[in-house]
Amino acid sequence: MTVVRGVGPRLAAGLAAAGVRTAEDLALWPPREYRDFRTVVPVRRAREGEWRAIEGVVTGSIASGPPWRRRLVVRLADTDGAELSLVWFKAYPGLSGRFPAGATVLAAGTPSRYGNEVQIVHPEIGGVRPPGGEWPSDAPRGLVPVYAAVAGFDQKRLRRVIAEALAAAGPALIDPIPEALRRERALAPLGRAAALLHDPSPLLDAGSDPGSLRLHPDGPWRRLAYGETFLLGVAVARARAAEARRPAPPLASDDRAFEAAIRGLGFALTAAQARAVEAVRRDLASDRPMRRLLQGDVGSGKTAVAVAAVAIAACAGRQAAVLAPTEILADQHAERLGRVLDAVGVRVERLSGGLRPRRRRDVVRSIAAGATRVVVGTHALLEETVRFPDLALVAIDEQQRFGVHQRFIISRAKSMAAGTTPHLLVMTATPIPRTLAFALYGDLDVTVLDELPPGRRPPATEAFGPAGRADAYERLLRLVAAGERAYVICPLVEPSDAMPLPAATSVYGDLARRLPEGAAALLHGRLLPEEKIEAIARFRSGRARVLVSTSVVEVGVDVPEASVVLVDGADRFGLSQLHQIRGRVGRDGRPSLCMLARSTDSETARARTDLLAATHDGFKIAEADLAMRGPGDIFGARQAGEASFRFADPLADADTIAEAVADARRVVAGAVPMSAEETARLDGALTRFGRSWGRVYERD
Ligand code: ADP
Ligand code: MG
Repeated sequence: MTVVRGVGPRLAAGLAAAGVRTAEDLALWPPREYRDFRTVVPVRRAREGEWRAIEGVVTGSIASGPPWRRRLVVRLADTDGAELSLVWFKAYPGLSGRFPAGATVLAAGTPSRYGNEVQIVHPEIGGVRPPGGEWPSDAPRGLVPVYAAVAGFDQKRLRRVIAEALAAAGPALIDPIPEALRRERALAPLGRAAALLHDPSPLLDAGSDPGSLRLHPDGPWRRLAYGETFLLGVAVARARAAEARRPAPPLASDDRAFEAAIRGLGFALTAAQARAVEAVRRDLASDRPMRRLLQGDVGSGKTAVAVAAVAIAACAGRQAAVLAPTEILADQHAERLGRVLDAVGVRVERLSGGLRPRRRRDVVRSIAAGATRVVVGTHALLEETVRFPDLALVAIDEQQRFGVHQRFIISRAKSMAAGTTPHLLVMTATPIPRTLAFALYGDLDVTVLDELPPGRRPPATEAFGPAGRADAYERLLRLVAAGERAYVICPLVEPSDAMPLPAATSVYGDLARRLPEGAAALLHGRLLPEEKIEAIARFRSGRARVLVSTSVVEVGVDVPEASVVLVDGADRFGLSQLHQIRGRVGRDGRPSLCMLARSTDSETARARTDLLAATHDGFKIAEADLAMRGPGDIFGARQAGEASFRFADPLADADTIAEAVADARRVVAGAVPMSAEETARLDGALTRFGRSWGRVYERD
């Protein structure tokens, strides 16, 4: 184990929370973006709304306000006399002393206009050169990486420890990719890729966009994306090879029980659902393990297909597990399945992190004894102690929310049924590119639900600028007064000084005051599991008319009576995410409304909400999502993404992924020459890789 200088216990804990545990992890920790300090412009070339590194001479500074809320304004000028102010609210004591008149300041940030002044609020200070003096040695130059925030540590400190990690661990990074492949694919050594990751300047010409680095053929991102997909590909190919040696239990469906379950759904299947159910039924009857991906836009009725599959397994007397990414969704599925399977005398249990230890132990025991046949759960299902003696079917809902690895944990380690492999059904509303599906699951049959249940009308979608926000709320309150049920979705749980955005707790406070007692409910990820379930239950039953929530309701939540959704701060959500949120309404035949209230009025923000108002096609929206992420924020949130990848972007890196997966299969098939040492290295890397498999994302 390599020790990195400068990482104490507190920083180590912060890094561990971000998934960085070793010097090697740190050396390969991907920056979230690069700041361009290659060109530093004089004050007059600062443009409103555009991030810039600027340089100017201090002409004066003013501090005002009480010590605990001291406001500091430092005025800079360039040789032409153009002026710009740097502004801090809550300046720490002594900050003003860093900017003596006549000193040159290198500052960076996004200028805004205040009256007729151009200012940068809370700028990043690259360095200060005293009159006649030198720049400090750590003043940023070139492309400067920015890492995920670690509370209590600034970027300079992170950059310093990463430099240490690179020096200490970089040359010794173990590359699991065999030499033959590295040569064939012209892949740089791992140590070099790591160095370029943190300082990509040598790769880019002076004028080129830092965003182009992401797809640079010799760049670290492509190299590391290849590496991680290769490892995953080997893991998948090996698992598939093992599975191929173990047949699945053929599940013949008892027609009467099956029909009863379908009747229990309470509606007639759409033609698309009926086709999917038929395909699943055929798959389950075979001893070849089913590997089926059910893809369908939000609201297309994927749950019904899963219900049918679970009913078949349960009626055949075998065990089935349903995995959902959130407590709320697990609870909802457990309740639905419970109602349907009650008709055929099968009890459904729920297993999630929120259960009391006692109850949980009982459920685990009942599963192990085979007494419980159907379990719906969150990641709690994946824990070591949960063992199924007779697992025949695994259904994973909203699979894009899980790491790839979960599917292996659950379908292999969970099943104690000697020599068998469970059938697998995965569901998603996110279109997965073919190459990626292949990488993640190996060969996979895909069924698409290309039809919405009858009578559905997509929600009318309207966009509001910041000035229209109050109107949107008024409209919402009027609709609620007229008997509609509404969601309000906010980007934050609590108000934050750093990000002046709508927060669920304060919006809830406002609405609770304006609505009758008990008519508003609040839901967010920081509540206890039982509080979450209580909030959604009140909304579901109609006792609460408005549910104020963060994006926890984004996936899967189904309250058909809700007909209005207001997304406050809509520009803070991704397009696909907004589409999912919008899909919470319009779930029965009645007209429904989605209001998107932006908190900024930039052109991109407007284009994004306009696009949603214009189209309801989830596939088109996912594509636009990628296209609209300009190269500048290509490092941003990956919505169509696979939570387990750090470097690979499923859409942008499709070719690299395909190559890496093909190579991985050749390795598993023994078609790539490898020395004993290389084999050992690959095995070691897979073991380490496997250790991170426990991660599941329950996102708020
Ligand atoms: P998703 O594909 O987003 O998971 P759900 O399975 O949650 O969709 O279904 C959305 C809503 O449509 C639910 O309220 C469900 O009960 C209803 N539904 C599903 N299939 C049908 C159908 N064939 N006829 C009428 N309603 C349906
Ligand atoms: Mg669903």
